[in-house]
Amino acid sequence: MRYIGPHVSIQGGVENAPLRAKELGATAFAMFTKNQRQWKAAPLTEKSIRAFRDNCRTGGYTPDHILPHDSYLINLGSPEEAKLQRSRTAFIDEMQRAEALGLTLLNFHPGSHLNKIPVELCLATIAESVNMALEETATVTAVLENTAGQGSNLGHSFEQLATIIDQVSNKERIGVCLDTCHLFAAGYDLRTPEAVENMFDEFNSIIGLDYLKGMHLNDAKLELDSRKDRHASIGKGCIGTDGFAAIIRHPATADIPLILETPDPDIWNREISMLAAYETSS
Ligand SMILES: [Zn+2]
Ligand SMILES: [Zn+2]
Repeated sequence: MRYIGPHVSIQGGVENAPLRAKELGATAFAMFTKNQRQWKAAPLTEKSIRAFRDNCRTGGYTPDHILPHDSYLINLGSPEEAKLQRSRTAFIDEMQRAEALGLTLLNFHPGSHLNKIPVELCLATIAESVNMALEETATVTAVLENTAGQGSNLGHSFEQLATIIDQVSNKERIGVCLDTCHLFAAGYDLRTPEAVENMFDEFNSIIGLDYLKGMHLNDAKLELDSRKDRHASIGKGCIGTDGFAAIIRHPATADIPLILETPDPDIWNREISMLAAYETSS
């Protein structure tokens, strides 16, 4: 079985996320642990934490199939000292929130150099930020997401992700989430079974499949190597259904959360069943 589900809302409390996922027939889900447009949030209450854990248990969701996402405000590679400190503090808080919820993964975007510092220095700064967060927590794995390579966002190549991982001290608690739209925008073709096989082979040789902790399944509105992040519903973009069928059938996706961040919530339940069916159809 493949573990598939969307990024669901936490409106009304984090405890509602697993309930929303269940309603959609999801077997995995993603969520924010706080309002992602704000730097600070009140701590999670004991009541909310207990309800979240109960709802996950009832819904059959285990921590390895739940992929929380951090705030988009955070830049762990920021060239500006004040912004970097603020980002590191906020990231540690998010890691601790995930830990309080009993979760074991936190998905984040590596960071941006804003054309003010060299790429290598930015990658080293990101790794240092991760090291600091891992020291302040005990059980959560920091999961780097590959990017579309838009603007000065780093992490669009496997080589850049590997450079960050190399500089993280605790290799047990660093992982990668591959977003298919971002891969395609960054020049990794996924349109055919052969292209998908090649992508996973390349990932395995440069980073290692053991580091793959989750995927975001999004079709891409724009053509290969567009360097722009524009998600489309599955099968309605430039990647197409053959590519997604091959991804679902690949052994690398067998036991990781496969998260939809597609633009039309009204068809999430159909996208989930369509993707799940690829596992057994040929
Ligand atoms: Zn994503
Ligand atoms: Zn995206």
